[in-house]
Formats: sequence, C-alpha cells, structure tokens
Amino acid sequence: MPTPSALALTSTHAAPGDTPVSALPGVGPALADALARLGLERVQDLWFHLPLRYEDKTRVVAIADLRPGERTQVEGVVEAVERGFRYRPQLKVAISDDSLQTLVLRFFHFRRSQAEQMQPGTRLLCYGEVRQGPQGLEMVHPQYQRISGDEPAIVDELLSPIYPTTEGLGQKRLAGVIAKALALLPPDAQLELIPPALCAQHGLTSLRDALLYVHRPPPDAHIGQLTAGRHPAQQRLAFEELLTQHLSLKRMRAAVRRRHAPSLRGTGQLRERLLAGLPFGLTGAQQRVTAEIAVDIAQAKPMLRLVQGDVGSGKTIVAALAAIAAVESGQQVALMAPTELLAEQHLHHFRHWLTPLGVDVAWLAGKVAGKARQQALQRVAEGAHVVIGTHALMQEGVTFAQLGLVIVDEQHRFGVQQRLALRDKGADQGSGLVPHQLVLTATPIPRTLAMSAYADLDVSAIDELPPGRTPVQTIAISNARRAEVIERIHVACLEGRQVYWVCTLIEESEQLRAQAAEVAYAELSAALADCRIGLIHGRMKPREKQLVMDAFKAGELSVLVATTVIEVGVDVPNASLMVIENSERLGLAQLHQLRGRVGRGSVASNCVLLYQPPLGQLARERLQVMRETNDGFRIAEKDLELRGPGEVLGTRQTGQLSFRIADLARDAHLLPAVQEVGAYLLSHHPQQAEQLIVRWIGAAARYVHA
Ligand code: ADP
Ligand code: MG
Repeated sequence: MPTPSALALTSTHAAPGDTPVSALPGVGPALADALARLGLERVQDLWFHLPLRYEDKTRVVAIADLRPGERTQVEGVVEAVERGFRYRPQLKVAISDDSLQTLVLRFFHFRRSQAEQMQPGTRLLCYGEVRQGPQGLEMVHPQYQRISGDEPAIVDELLSPIYPTTEGLGQKRLAGVIAKALALLPPDAQLELIPPALCAQHGLTSLRDALLYVHRPPPDAHIGQLTAGRHPAQQRLAFEELLTQHLSLKRMRAAVRRRHAPSLRGTGQLRERLLAGLPFGLTGAQQRVTAEIAVDIAQAKPMLRLVQGDVGSGKTIVAALAAIAAVESGQQVALMAPTELLAEQHLHHFRHWLTPLGVDVAWLAGKVAGKARQQALQRVAEGAHVVIGTHALMQEGVTFAQLGLVIVDEQHRFGVQQRLALRDKGADQGSGLVPHQLVLTATPIPRTLAMSAYADLDVSAIDELPPGRTPVQTIAISNARRAEVIERIHVACLEGRQVYWVCTLIEESEQLRAQAAEVAYAELSAALADCRIGLIHGRMKPREKQLVMDAFKAGELSVLVATTVIEVGVDVPNASLMVIENSERLGLAQLHQLRGRVGRGSVASNCVLLYQPPLGQLARERLQVMRETNDGFRIAEKDLELRGPGEVLGTRQTGQLSFRIADLARDAHLLPAVQEVGAYLLSHHPQQAEQLIVRWIGAAARYVHA
C-alpha cells in the first residue's frame, strides 16, 4: 500500500517514475549517492532494478540432502571447532543435524569473539553455497545466526531477492528503498508502453503484476521456475528488455546514419593492379560482397556492415579491396584484430599486397613502445594509408589525419562499445565526418541472434569457399592412444605434410598455457627426433613469433606446437594435419576456428581431437558434431543450443550483452515477436520506443547522444 507521503509525491509529479529517488522518504544524500553509482536516479530506475537471483531461506534442508553447488539453509549443532594458522588464519566449524551428517563451515576472516561463540553444542542456522571440500561437504563464509534455547529456528516466509549492488549499500537497505519505490507503481494503463493490442497478441501479461512478482515472489512461488527465469512474470520482463535492446541498437544505427562519412568512390586503378597480381580469381561470393561494400562506402552516409564468412572463405582479400578504395579516395584505413598474432598476419598480407602498389601500411600494437611507438603515432597522425593493430588503435593518444574506413576482424571478440570507440576516433578529426565500418566475423551467427545482437549492422555473407578445398576429416581419439597419434604424426612428417599440435588449457593464465606447450614441445621433440619442430605461444615476443610462423610457412618446420594463439586468422595452406589436445574442454566455436587452420590447400586434411576420458555428455555431443560436419553455420547453431549465446558471440569476455533478466539462449523464442513489435513501435510509436530505452537503459541511454 502506498504510504501517505508516497501519495503526496504522486500528486506533485505528473509521472511518479520520473521522481528523483532523493524524494523518497528516508533517502538522504549518502544513500542517493550510492544509488546513483548503480545508475539509479529516478523512482522508475528502482522499479526496473531486478533481482539477480533469490535466496530461499523459507526452509531448512537436511545436511544429508545437500548437493554441491546449491545455495541453501541448514540448521545444526556445533560438534567441533578447529582454528588453524598454518598458511593463514582459518576457522573450521563442524556442525551436524538430525540427518546425522556433518557439514564443515570454513572461515578465513573472523573476529576472535566470533570464534569464541562457536562452542560445541551451539545451534546455528546457516545459509550459503555448498561445495565439495577436502573432507566432505562444506560452506565457505556462510551467513549464520545463533539460535538460543530449544525453540525452532524462525525461517523466512518469502524468498529474498538478491539485487546487484555496490559497496556500502547492503541488500536490506536496497530492498527497503525498492519497496518504497514499488509503492508508487501506477496502474498498468499508465505504466505500459507496448500498445495493448500487441500485448494481447503476443500473450504479454500485466507489467505491473510482473514487477511486483519478481521483486516480491509470494510464499507459494516456484523457486525452481524463478531460478531458471522461466516464470511468466520474468518472461514478460525479458520480452520488454529484449525489445528495448533491439530498439536501442536500431536507434544507435539511426544516429550513426544521420552523420556524414567521406564518399569512397576510388579510381579503381590500385584495385585493378591488386586483382591482377593475385594468384587466384575472386569467388562469386567474394565478388558479390565486395560489390555490396563498394556501393555502401561510395555513399556520404557511414556504412555499418558485417561480413560473415566461414573460416577460410577469404575475408581478408575482401577487406583489402575495401581498404584500397579508401586509399584511392585519399582516406586512411584502420584495421583492428583481437590478437596480436592475427594482427601480424594481416600486416603480413596487407604489406605483401599493398606495399608494391605504393600504399603505406603502418603497425600499431599494444607492445609497440617507446620511440617506435612515437614514430608509429606520428605516421598515423600524418596520414599513413593503412594502420593495422590490436585494440591499441583505440587508445588515447592515437589520432588519425583522416580516417575513412574502420575494419574490425573477428568481431565476436570485440564488443559494441569497442567498435563505437574506434568509430569515434574518426569523429574527433574536426571534419565532422565519421568513418565507414566493416566488421568481419568467422563465426556464422544464427539469424535470430544476429538480428538481435547486430541489429545495428547490415549483413553480407561470403557463403562459398574458394575452389579446390577438400573437407577436413575429423576423428576423436582418447588420450590413452597418444603414442599411436604421435606415430601417425611421424609418418605424416616423413610424407612431407605439415602438422599443428595445439595445446589447450582454457581457464589458466597465459604463463601456464605457455608451459603446457613447452611440455608438449619437449615430448614431441624427443619422440620425433628426425622431424623439425617449432613452438609458438603468447608469451613470446612478436618478432620471435613471426620467425617461427615464417619458418613454418616456408616449410622449414614440420610440426608447430602451439597454444590457441593460432586460433584465428593463421593461414598456412600446406598444413594438413591438426591435433588438438584436451579437445573436450573447448567449445564448438573454438574447435571450428582451430580446425579451420587446416584444409586450406588442395591436400586432403585431417583433424585429430584428443580427449581425456571419461567424456561428459556435453563434451561427447560437441565432439560428435565436429566429426559430423565442417559447416560453420550448423556448428554455430548447435553451439547455441548446447552452450548459449554468450559463448556463441564471445561476449562473456566483452560484456557486450549484459541483460538484467533476459537470457538470449533461454529466451531466443521471444525474438521473432520482439522484432515484430520493435518494427511496429518504431514506425507508429517512436516516443514510446524512446521511453522504453530510458526505462531500461536508464542513465547510460541519456548520454548516448552526447
Ligand atoms: P578467412 O575468411 O578465414 O579470413 P582468408 O582470407 O585467410 O580466410 O583466406 C584463406 C585462404 O584462402 C588464404 O590463403 C587466401 O589467400 C585464400 N583465398 C582467398 N580467396 C581465394 C580465392 N578466391 N581463391 C583461392 N584462394 C583464395
Ligand atoms: Mg581471417
């Protein structure tokens, strides 16, 4: 029920949602500051600040029924206490309950008084995440309270929502202020921004009810459904959030389209010479995509185009042709790649193709430092035609003379933000012109996802491989048969084939990855004494890496032991055998990328997926897909099914798509309707579309036009 002061507020403001949070009772400057740090400035920001998850303290679980990974509440009596100081202070408290099982509570930070409270016989009510410890199940730093006497522990009646928060703002206080904001929720008719007819058509339930439900699930709420995000109330909100994201990308695109870009018509002279010098002719798909790009960049409006093409489909030459048109028009080109090795490969190709034509190709990676960096920066500022590098290109202090075209390779490693940052490099050159943007991605993205994640881009597909490729034969072999695999490599080397041996350690540091590669290098060097073997990993200096790559390319090395640094872009057509260690740990997209390093020439190629048994269900399915198909598109769809879009788009790392409640994999079924409603809103109710963005994206959206 609205409090009297809350009612007073509604009468003084036309829309209660626009009321500043500081007007809520009990919100002083310090709290308002903390809320502002979360982007919560107006009452409606609080309505749409949704729980990340829920804690279920409504019941007590028997210790015997605990499962690792669960967050739950248990009640038990302290059996034993142990304080250790060996490496760092530690308090271990063993509790047990009627199920006669023991649970260890482990604390690394504790006050002495806290330790002294934990006398054997004390009853505790604890809440925390259960995990498998060295001596059985345990909870690290559980929340706990002592229960006095023989009274039963008092449990909560409602699930507790857990909100994203910030330092100095506890869950209780945040929940309190959200409750005050919810008291001001207007009736649906005022709250709803999607026209009622569309809501009815797509089965969208009341927004007001949905908000109240997710903030305060009733006692009978289905915790499993809520945790999975599949409750209709959550789905209602997810729909609106996806819709808003779609609208905001569309708006970003429209905003860019209103800017001006240099028209890159070119003269065609350098282009003719480049094409004449190539040892191959363009495929039909390459010609089509090149033509689409040429039409776009000839306009005085910025191009925003994504080129999708499977590994080996020949995106690099398409990018080079676009670059040439810019150079012919007197404009600069920036080419950005996600890893240094890939950027170096591009440098190599572009110099090979363009330097003979008198085009100046400069290099600017993060590791370029000191005097070399100064010189590179100066060349860029003075108008070097093409500048190739890593994300270092976007850093402060990099100024272009006239940047006309930005090419971003392997887009799935970059986020929208980074793309925008590079675009803005062009904008600060005083002319008011922004560069054209060409994005290359090797991961074919399922259509629904592409429309959602890249709603701001036009899409071209290079859907044809250069002629003469033979599909890679793939097999999966247990590591128990490692010796056989090594023998097979031996035979291949003696036949003059070239081999990649890829070491994969995914969650560890670059240093550990390098070590794993060194171990494999030593093992193979010993086993294949009559073969020449090279080693490449991310900890080597760029020059060392280049030397090794060059030697492998020139056929001086038979085997290249590598970390996943070779995952993208590396191109050695003669290599025809690849062994991937611990393949069961990699996702499909990554396996497909890696495998794409072979099968580039006309020789029949093989890929051996070495795995460590036993295989889990997911790993088994992944390896099966890899054996069945070389089609990147099918693999991407399967990947989406098995792992979810965060992985498909590689956005876990970049944080590109972070939703409050939506989850692209779980909610992909909503996307067709989202696109339909989005198109309708933009054409019939642009103002509502704008309000949705302000509602969901809040403070950040208000600065988009700045
Ligand atoms: P990706 O799309 O994976 O970036 P690349 O641009 O690296 O592919 O091209 C892969 C290989 O195919 C390179 O060796 C490239 O020179 C070669 N290539 C590209 N286009 C053609 C073509 N039309 N005919 C023959 N080979 C081509
Ligand atoms: Mg490439």
